[in-house]
Amino acid sequence: MTIGIIGGTGIYEIVELGEDVKTRVIDTPYGPSPEMSLFKLHDKDVVFMSRHSVGHAKPPHMINYQANIWAMKEMGVERIMATNAVGSLDMPIKPGDLVVPHDFLDFTKMRKNTFYDDRVVHVDVTEPYCPELRDILISSGQVIGEGVYICTEGPRFETTAEIRMYRRLGGTVVGMTGLPELVLARELEMCYASICTVSNYGASISPVKLTIDEVFEEVEKKRLLLIELISDIISKIPENCSCPCVHALEGAEVKPSLESEDL
Ligand SMILES: [Zn+2]
Repeated sequence: MTIGIIGGTGIYEIVELGEDVKTRVIDTPYGPSPEMSLFKLHDKDVVFMSRHSVGHAKPPHMINYQANIWAMKEMGVERIMATNAVGSLDMPIKPGDLVVPHDFLDFTKMRKNTFYDDRVVHVDVTEPYCPELRDILISSGQVIGEGVYICTEGPRFETTAEIRMYRRLGGTVVGMTGLPELVLARELEMCYASICTVSNYGASISPVKLTIDEVFEEVEKKRLLLIELISDIISKIPENCSCPCVHALEGAEVKPSLESEDL
């Protein structure tokens, strides 16, 4: 069992808990991967990748999600835990809280969102986040175990009217990096769950203007807790999956018909 960690802002130090650390960059059909760190933690193989590349170099809409997820698969990763910084759409969910979403609404506009451009593959996302990984995360008692993740294109923050709309549609948190990452993982039959760190309230829910300093301050406060939580979860992930993620492509592909082949 190889476990992948896709880190957003601020959790690179998980690598320092590991043993036998190596770094790797690989070529994928979609371009080079970011630098990945491979290590052992709790006797398990772990691959860590910084989503924005080292030094937070790429904005959310320019991340090469296809190369990132393809590289994870190439490294033998079967289960991915991702971290995402989000804004809260709901007053009771406060900056500093950790939310493990169970569903999403995708408002991205210009991202490559599939690996299957030359085959007709419709993966099922009735339950988009891995139920088994979510259960393990929720059993830690340190997270809010439910929520709808709204993904926006960015890089700007949301308007007041957009935030009002997302709330009415049932959104819990809003971020820019969750999609299409999780769908691409499903397309390659990997488990995926996200731990969202609430860094601020969404526009108009927040009493003050949003600044990037505010985001980084809250993420910094939660950083050590999050690293400990991820380490603990890695120790609890079972060797074999009993979730459906690994069979995501069964029955998902539309096969070319015999008639069209005959033509
Ligand atoms: Zn799964």
